Formats: sequence, C-alpha cells, structure tokens
Amino acid sequence: MSIKIGILGYGNLGRGVECAVKHNPDMELTAVFTRRNPADVQILTETAKVYHVDEAVKMKDEIDVLILCGGSATDLPVQTPEFAQYFNVVDSFDTHARIPEHFQAVDEAAKKGNKVAMISVGWDPGMFSLNRLYANAILPGGKDYTFWGKGVSQGHSDAVRRIDGVLDARQYTIPVKEALDAVREGKNPELSTRQKHTREVFVVADENADKAKIEQEIKTMPNYFDEYDTTVHFITEEEMKAEHTGLPHGGFVIRSGNTGWEDEHKHVIEYSLKLDSNPEFTSSVITAYARAAYRMSQEGQSGCKTVFDVAPVYLSLQTPEELRAKML
Ligand code: NDP
Repeated sequence: MSIKIGILGYGNLGRGVECAVKHNPDMELTAVFTRRNPADVQILTETAKVYHVDEAVKMKDEIDVLILCGGSATDLPVQTPEFAQYFNVVDSFDTHARIPEHFQAVDEAAKKGNKVAMISVGWDPGMFSLNRLYANAILPGGKDYTFWGKGVSQGHSDAVRRIDGVLDARQYTIPVKEALDAVREGKNPELSTRQKHTREVFVVADENADKAKIEQEIKTMPNYFDEYDTTVHFITEEEMKAEHTGLPHGGFVIRSGNTGWEDEHKHVIEYSLKLDSNPEFTSSVITAYARAAYRMSQEGQSGCKTVFDVAPVYLSLQTPEELRAKML
C-alpha cells in the first residue's frame, strides 16, 4: 500500500516534492492544497487534485503525510503548528536561530494530535546538520567549517532587485578556493567572513540608471554585501534569461580533527553537495523524511522531530533485512 502524500503550498518546493513523489515507488500524491484559487494552480500529476487549503482538514483521513512547502519567514511558523494537530507533517523551516521556538510550538500541536511532525528538513538545515553531528561525535576535539556555493541566494538576489534602477538581479555565493584548500589540508585556519566566501551579482539595469551608483549601493549594503568582496556585472535581459534562470546551489561541511595520544594523526571529514536545483534536491530530502514520519507514526511515535531524531533505516526504500544484506 502506498504512502499517501499531500502537498501544502505549490511553489518551487511544492513542485519539487511532486517530482520526488514520482521517483519513489512506495508513495502517491493524493492532493495539493493552496491558498490561491485552485483553478489557477496547474499540477503535473493526473491522478491528484488541487484543493483550497480550507479543505485540507476534512481530508485528514485520506492523507498519510502532509508536506508543508510554504516559506520559512511567515508561512511555516503558522502552518506547521496548525496542521501538525491533524496530519503527520514535514517542513523545511530554515530560519536557524528560530528552530528551538518552532520546535516547541510544533511539538505541542503534534503531541495533542498524536502525530509525527518533522521540521527543518532539507540540506541546510537538514543533511548538513546531520553531517556536522556525525563529524562532531567522531572527532570531538576538531573544528567545523561550512562553505556554501557556488549557488544562487534568493534573499540576496531580492535585496538587489529592491535597488532603484534595477530591473532584475541574480546573486551567486562562491566559496574562496584558497580557504577551502587550507581547510581540506587540515590546517584549521581562522577565517573571517570575507575570507570564506565572495559574492557575484548579475544585474539588468534600467537604461537610464546610474550603473556606478547601483554598483556602489550593492557593495556597501549592510548585512548583505558589506562584509564580502563582491563583483557586479551588468547584463542584458536576454543574457539573464539565457544564463541565470536556474537555482543551482551546494556547499561543503568539513570537520578536521586529530587523534592519537599526542594528537599526532590528522583527519578530515567532508560532505559536499553540488546541486543543479536547490528546490528539487531539498524536496527529495523532504520526501525521504516523509517516509520516516509515516513509519514512525505507524509505530506509535508522536511529537516534533528533527533529522537528529530519525534512524537511517526509517528513510530507506529497502527493508532493514535488505539493508543489512546489501549495504553493511
Ligand atoms: P516559493 O516562494 O516558491 O513558494 C512559497 C509559497 O508561495 C508556496 O508554497 C505558495 O503557496 C506561495 N505562492 C504564492 N503565489 C505563488 C505563485 N504565483 N507561484 C508559486 N508559489 C506561490 O518558495 P520555495 O518553494 O522556493 O521555498 C520555500 C521555503 O523552503 C523557503 O522559504 C526556504 O525557507 C525553504 N528551503 C529550505 C531549504 C533547506 O535546506 N532546509 C532549502 C531551500 C528552501 P500557495 O500555493 O499556498 O499560494
């Protein structure tokens, strides 16, 4: 019997989850819920239907796991506690500093409804967090490094688009090669923000705009660019469409540390991701954790969980017996 999936919110992640469900033979998409007019939301799965979000709770017995694909800023802090009362849920809440309070609110709701609610699933937070934890447990005396990119930062792209005279913009975050090399060699360097990443911005400007002023405004923008070395390129609308529409991302989680009585042996643990599509990869992680949420709920567990609380065996399409025979 397939795990019946619902998707709430049909943006980049919503579309990504729909694709990921197609790739997982033990799952089927039952419904997509949206706050917009359902007639305006076209999905790809012929066997599923789009409903207004107000219909969701009525369908709680038809859905095993509801995947929440809203934005972290304002959607998920409200939607996850609300729907965790009625459904097993998974979200990708990525405001790192607010995860403890989000956990608290969701935990209360999920326990009330006797459901499993998996929060902050994706790659960061998510797979990066898990790899940091494993590496820390193995090398307690070591040092952690996380590098992001090369990839598009939506937040930084939006910030540039708000500048007067900017018609469109795309911002890439790029790790500094020398810093990455030093970390990989186990040199344990102390790195400032500027030494770890550079930023590259592609801008389509209004033809009458003062490009020098735009460039200056970008490079000095507090919290976004002032602490980085930033390169700005002005390009045409056609170039933007041809070369910068994708949402690639990725990064590296590295921990180096020593073992031996005198710390004489050096070790470097590295987990790296190179993603053609950030939302599709994030959605694929989320979908694997939806399987775990379902299985944990079937076992009678309830409450809020993060990737730290999920044993790997719950994620796999294979049975524990198959895993022991093939992967150990
Ligand atoms: P989007 O902006 O594409 O979608 C967010 C919501 O916007 C949708 O669920 C949708 O809800 C609504 N929406 C309104 N109008 C439209 C429209 N015209 N087209 C599409 N959607 C519309 O965000 P993403 O899906 O890219 O990202 C969602 C969140 O995922 C991010 O806020 C981020 O925090 C998180 N994330 C987490 C990662 C991780 O590693 N943990 C990695 C990447 C992202 P509705 O259908 O109800 O209108």
